[in-house]
Amino acid sequence: MIQLPAGVQLQEKTLAFLAKPQQLFIGGDWVDPKEGQYFSSLNPANGETIAEVPLATALDVNQAVAAARKAFQSQWYPKVNPATRSQLIHKLADLMQRDLQVFMELETLDNGKPLNKAKYDVLGAINHFRYYAGWATKIEGSTIPVDGSKLVYTLREPLGVVGLIVPWNFPLMMAAWKLAPALACGNCCVLKPAEQTPLTALYLCKLIQEAGFPEGVVNVVTGPGLPTGEAITQQMDIDKVSFTGSTVVGRKIMSAAANSNLKKVSLELGGKSPNVIFADADLKAVSQSALWSSFYNTGQECTLGSRLYVERPIYDEFLVKLKEQAEQLSIGNGLNNPDLGPVVSQKQLDRVLHYIELGQKEGAELITGGERCGGDLDEGYFLSPTIFGHSNDDLQIVQEEIFGPVVVVSAFDESEEAIRRANNTRYGLAAAVWTKDISKAHRFAQATQAGTVWINGYDLFDPAVPFGGHKESGIGAEMGKSAIDLYTQEKSVWVNLT
Ligand code: NAD
Repeated sequence: MIQLPAGVQLQEKTLAFLAKPQQLFIGGDWVDPKEGQYFSSLNPANGETIAEVPLATALDVNQAVAAARKAFQSQWYPKVNPATRSQLIHKLADLMQRDLQVFMELETLDNGKPLNKAKYDVLGAINHFRYYAGWATKIEGSTIPVDGSKLVYTLREPLGVVGLIVPWNFPLMMAAWKLAPALACGNCCVLKPAEQTPLTALYLCKLIQEAGFPEGVVNVVTGPGLPTGEAITQQMDIDKVSFTGSTVVGRKIMSAAANSNLKKVSLELGGKSPNVIFADADLKAVSQSALWSSFYNTGQECTLGSRLYVERPIYDEFLVKLKEQAEQLSIGNGLNNPDLGPVVSQKQLDRVLHYIELGQKEGAELITGGERCGGDLDEGYFLSPTIFGHSNDDLQIVQEEIFGPVVVVSAFDESEEAIRRANNTRYGLAAAVWTKDISKAHRFAQATQAGTVWINGYDLFDPAVPFGGHKESGIGAEMGKSAIDLYTQEKSVWVNLT
């Protein structure tokens, strides 16, 4: 029986799903793991086991890949025409909308995030499926004028079987960012959700079945990086791995691809994004935004504006306001809709606490937070929003991705300094600048080494807009037309007319 906060009830469908033993989804069937191993998925709000989930080994991964290959060759591409692919993806989006509340509850139980934030994620995932449902019928090659005695055209074809490995911070949304374009392009998929948050991917399989996708087009294997993720990256019959996660694991993925069948790789990795505030910015707008860009999803966000640079004339006033707002954020069980839920696991809690201790040892000034929250929250992985002041960009807490509710704040004196310090990182995922001076804003956007730059805003996303990392934040961009390039390959066809 799942422990729930007083007054909270879950949907019947959620309870029924959790009451049933979990299985892998392979070749359109629910199957037990071949080696009979399981792992526990925990509720980070109280440490309780919510489900025992199959631990897929290489044997299961191989079976999933064989099912995907069979589906690709016999049932999916090119047999199912693009309009039908589009309809199936739309149907899936409809079913997700119908079960919106179930997805929200499962995501909150598994990841800890507040229900209303989970809602935003599920709606984002649905939008993603709808956007790529539109693309399925618009993937085209071209004709290329050459010597008049030849006709040359290109075909844009799916890659075949793609392995999709996703993290735990936005479980369903990250899966949708990959599944939607991969399916629209005509690939068959083997998806591995993160071991901390496997439940929404498994629930999605029920809807994939209900929507009528042919068997084997989508397969889901659950388990940790080792052995499950690694088995995907080393598999000899997977054509591409699309990975979202840490830069450390991203390197392993590339190396496994290089050492196996040279499968294609795209990577969405970590970040340490600068959020730069000039003295002429709209301070009311910026202080609300900076609060959320520092602590959204309890700081477990790849684009987190975890390095705040504030122009000196407004630094003190800004910091007082940020501290006041951070201290007012409510923290608790996501089912009660607080501002912030717990971090995802004991491991993540320990990691963040380690960085908080390190920051103090390194000489940064702890302005607020820095503690595990006590009282009746003791059982869960709760942390108070933490702000450090500093003037030294070499500190580890300034350079390394912490992935928790920790922001480091520093003052700067002029534009070129802000740009130089914003770029002083091995990451290049996102950056933001706040100013009313349009020249200054565009100059910043031009000079910043990041895949996305926001001007007078933060965390703005749309399925149509490419999103990817520069530097060590990734290879390739998801979303928009860019993802079509990630899940297709071009073939040139020459016709000799003589
Ligand atoms: P992680 O790298 O530890 O794990 C991500 C996924 O990889 C999980 O499914 C995990 O089981 C799997 N994995 C781990 N080791 C593996 C291996 N050797 N081979 C194959 N798979 C393996 O990351 P995490 O802790 O789950 O997520 C947090 C990280 O994800 C952060 O660095 C964050 O910035 C990044 N992230 C990036 C984006 C983006 O779009 N750039 C989005 C969300 C999260």
